[in-house]
Amino acid sequence: MQQGGTQYIDSFGLVRSGSDVQGETPIVRFERLVGDLPAQQDNAMVSWSLKGETDTVGRHWLHVGIRACPVLVCQRCMQPFVYQVQAENTLQVMKSEAELDALEAREEDEDEVTERIVGTQRMDVLALVEDELILALPYVPKHEVCPSLPEALADSGSDDARPSPFAVLGKLKKD
Ligand SMILES: [Zn+2]
Repeated sequence: MQQGGTQYIDSFGLVRSGSDVQGETPIVRFERLVGDLPAQQDNAMVSWSLKGETDTVGRHWLHVGIRACPVLVCQRCMQPFVYQVQAENTLQVMKSEAELDALEAREEDEDEVTERIVGTQRMDVLALVEDELILALPYVPKHEVCPSLPEALADSGSDDARPSPFAVLGKLKKD
C-alpha cells in the first residue's frame, strides 16, 4: 500500500504480481475535472485504488475504484450540490498498441466492448484516476429533489441569492 504521492507506476508489474496501490488526492489537483465545476469543498479528497490481476488465460486486468464528493451544478435549479461518486471499473491492460489494434479489429461486431488501455512502465496514476472520475460523473447532474426556493429568489436569478454548497451538503447529509 502506498500513499497518494506516488504518481507513476509500472502497470505491467502491477498486473503480473496482482498487487494493489491506493491513495488519497486532493480533488483540486484534478485540473481537467474541476476546471468546469464550481468551487469545491475545502480539503475534499478523492480516494482511489488500483488492483492488478492476471487471469488464468493470461489476460491482464486493472481494477479501478474511486470515491469522491465533487460539487456539481444541478441542471434543473442551477445550484451547486455535492454529488457522491463511488465508481468501479475494470480495464484490460494490453502489452502494446499493436496488440490492442489486433484484438479490437477481431471484435468489431461485438456489442459490449471491453475497455482497454495499453500498459506502460510509467503509468500516470492520477491521469487514469481523473479519466475514470470524469466518466463517472452524470452527463446532466441533478438533485434527486431540488431544494425549494422562494419564488422571488428563483425568479431573480441572482448569484448572491444562491445558498452555499455547504448549506446544500448539510441538507443532503440528513437523508
Ligand atoms: Zn436542483
